[in-house]
Amino acid sequence: MLSANLIFTISLAYVALLFVVAFLGDRQARTGKVSWIQSPIVYTLSISVYCTSWTFYGAVGSAARSGLEFATIYLGPTLVFVGWWFLLRKLVRIGHVHRITSIADLISSRYGKSTSLAVLVTLIAVIGTTPYIALQLKAVTTSIQVIVASDSGNLTGLPENDPASEIAFWIAAGMALFTIIFGTRTIDANERHHGVVAAIALEALVKLFALVAVGLFVVFALADGPADIFSRDAAKILQSEDMFDARWIALTFLSGVAIVCLPRQFQVTVVENTGEEQLRMASWLFPLYLMLMSLFVLPIAIGGLSMLPDGSNPDMFVLTVPMAVDQDLLVMLAFLGGFSSATSMVIVASIALSTMISNHIVMPVMLRTPWTSIERSGDVRRLLLISRRISIGVILLLGYVYFRLSGKSDALAAIGLIAFVGVAQFLPPLLGGIYWKRATASGAKIGLTAGFLLWSYTLFLPSFEGDLLLSANTIEHGPWGVELLRPQALFGLVGQDPLVHALFWSLSANVALFILGSLVFEPKPLERLQGTLFVDVFRTPAGDEHRFIRRSASAEDLFILAQRILGAEEALRLFREFAAGQGLDGDFPQPTDAFIAHLERRLAGSIGAASARAMISQIAAGETISLDELMKIADETAQLMEYSQEVEKKSVQLEATARELRRANQRLTLLDAQKDDFLSQVSHEVRTPMTSIRSFSEILLETRDLASPQAQRFLSIIHEESLRLTRLLDEILDMNLMDRGEASWNLHELDASVPLSRAVETCRGLGSSAGAEIHFEDPDSGIVMADPDRLQQVVINILTNAIKHNTSGKPEVRIGGRLSGSNYEIDVSDNGPGIPLTVRPFIFEKFQRGAAQSSSGGIGLGLAISKEIMARLGGTLTLVDNDGPGTLFRISIPTRIAIPTNAGENI
Ligand code: ADP
Repeated sequence: MLSANLIFTISLAYVALLFVVAFLGDRQARTGKVSWIQSPIVYTLSISVYCTSWTFYGAVGSAARSGLEFATIYLGPTLVFVGWWFLLRKLVRIGHVHRITSIADLISSRYGKSTSLAVLVTLIAVIGTTPYIALQLKAVTTSIQVIVASDSGNLTGLPENDPASEIAFWIAAGMALFTIIFGTRTIDANERHHGVVAAIALEALVKLFALVAVGLFVVFALADGPADIFSRDAAKILQSEDMFDARWIALTFLSGVAIVCLPRQFQVTVVENTGEEQLRMASWLFPLYLMLMSLFVLPIAIGGLSMLPDGSNPDMFVLTVPMAVDQDLLVMLAFLGGFSSATSMVIVASIALSTMISNHIVMPVMLRTPWTSIERSGDVRRLLLISRRISIGVILLLGYVYFRLSGKSDALAAIGLIAFVGVAQFLPPLLGGIYWKRATASGAKIGLTAGFLLWSYTLFLPSFEGDLLLSANTIEHGPWGVELLRPQALFGLVGQDPLVHALFWSLSANVALFILGSLVFEPKPLERLQGTLFVDVFRTPAGDEHRFIRRSASAEDLFILAQRILGAEEALRLFREFAAGQGLDGDFPQPTDAFIAHLERRLAGSIGAASARAMISQIAAGETISLDELMKIADETAQLMEYSQEVEKKSVQLEATARELRRANQRLTLLDAQKDDFLSQVSHEVRTPMTSIRSFSEILLETRDLASPQAQRFLSIIHEESLRLTRLLDEILDMNLMDRGEASWNLHELDASVPLSRAVETCRGLGSSAGAEIHFEDPDSGIVMADPDRLQQVVINILTNAIKHNTSGKPEVRIGGRLSGSNYEIDVSDNGPGIPLTVRPFIFEKFQRGAAQSSSGGIGLGLAISKEIMARLGGTLTLVDNDGPGTLFRISIPTRIAIPTNAGENI
């Protein structure tokens, strides 16, 4: 038999172990390195704080009383975690972005950082959690009593005398001490508690191990395996008739809500979360944990019912079954399991609640009290810590008082469910807050208040069975005997399970008034902004609110404020970091809107959004939220969609235009090809007869005796005309060949002065017959890469033009070639009429004949061909601007460095 002393000693040793783990966890976290503390497994295990002693002991009790009903408590959370993508992921993201410290903080922050809403949620959370803490005290106390009582041979699990209050008091005091030491250990009032989380994870393992050990023992040592267990008489508990009734559905729903809305669950799942990958693993690992926790509930219940005497307390089967067969080690393990379940719940719940109380009740009061208000400097952190510590003490004291008051109710599960319905009131403002932009603070407040009052009236107060506010008579017959107002049959809803009844009325009223209030009352600008930031958290970049709130404050004031909450060192680090981010050297950053918003968020991580905002508002001047901007982001989605539709429409139009252009282009290409074909065809057709005309006229010219002077003149005209026609046709053909890229090129290095001199010689005849004087200075020699015939053709063209179009009385043409930089330039100038300014820009276009009309005989292709040839040779042909009479054309072609043939030998 285990003696009371042994139990206390082992419990103390276990608590000492928790201390060590928590201490190591804190130290690890302070090194700043990513370590096992942040592992998703530790995170998942800490979520199992859901499995309190109520689950540890009570699930077996519930199974013994109502069969499979206990499974609902595991089913709800499993559904929520498997579907983490929808709700939990968004909550965690919002928690990170807005540095949320508690569920009260989240709700208050969402609804315009409202202090009154934060206070309301905190009060409901405290009142709702108190019974739950009492439940843990009760479980541990009962378990100790059961073990101690067994010394006197009482195996029913029912205490004989009543030292319970004393034991419970000391347990509560011990838990308060542990929580104060680790929950408010550091002077940094931060939202995360790594040490505690580590200790909770260890406790999670212990309770799982203990329950599985007892289960295996029952199934394989006390019975012959599962088949044997389930064939016992007691297995008839499974045949409960009304299994999937309203209560079943209500319980599944409630437990699903509780895994999100219970302050301690919100604390471990959202506040203590350090990354979304943790949640990803928890989404399957936590349901697995729950499954293991529930695996042996039925076998232990059946085993207890069939082994222990009638009237034994089924809530203690986990303990009394191994006790009945004197398995001391197993009893001790089971006790530690229950102890772990209870302590982890109490520790996390009181941390969560004390954070809420200090941030949302104490802080706002301090901000309004003269000797602590913001005008005074000094560290508020110490005050905050003290307030947190006192809150923890008060919370546990409240739990203890409840324990004393409600001592009559024996079923653990009933108390737990009262708390579940209480916190379920947070669901409407929570869900509405993150999915419905229009939800307002007024709606949330009205709904919450109504839901809370109805919960108190229909479930919480009646649970005292007449000892608190409502008398037994009122509970039975309604206030003043008005039957319609009976707490457990409100408005004539008779015959329902009290839990379903309370859930129905409180939540319906809550939801209805929340929606109604939101629609009736206009949201304030800050509510609207926060609504958008929360609902669109995956779309709006983190810390975007500074785009919408305009404030100004001096960096010094901000620093004084920051160091009061973060401590001088941390505040300086924050300021320096931001200054560096702004590209500044000093300690203080520019107090921009972005910085003020950043600081506010950082402070919110310590004291909650509402208090952080209140503090900043006291020193920041001219706070405005630009409504225009706000509307812009509120309508962002709509705008984006509209915009993308427009873009789509435009791109369809563009595609159509492109298609049309393509078609037009094809048509043009075809026409162009047809035109080219036509031209070459015509030229060939005209050239053939021209050749014979020319040949015959030559014969006629040579046949002297036929020649009268008249005939001679005509013949010479025929000859000239045919020459001209041939030249024109040649030009057309040449141009056409070049256009089609079929002209042949004989490129090699040559001295440019050679084709130049040849061209001048060729034109001398034409010059003297036209009476024009050609001045040709000795040209420079320069090596170029060119086709000599083509280069010569260009010079002849230009020179011919200069003679041909020169109408001056004493025509003169100057031509010369010289090296200029890396080019060889040939200038041809004349003293003719020049080219009119209006024609100059187009003079190189095909068939452009400028001022000259048919008299000069050309068809306007010479310059176009010449320009094209020069381009192919890598050079240029330009008409040089000149003011005076005459024309100056410049042919320019890049020179090559002449390589002497014996260069290699010289080196
Ligand atoms: P064309 O066969 O008509 O000479 P070009 O392309 O060689 O064709 O010249 C186009 C037009 O440029 C000519 O018709 C003439 O009006 C003008 N032009 C060219 N060179 C001169 C010049 N040196 N002096 C005056 N006009 C010129």
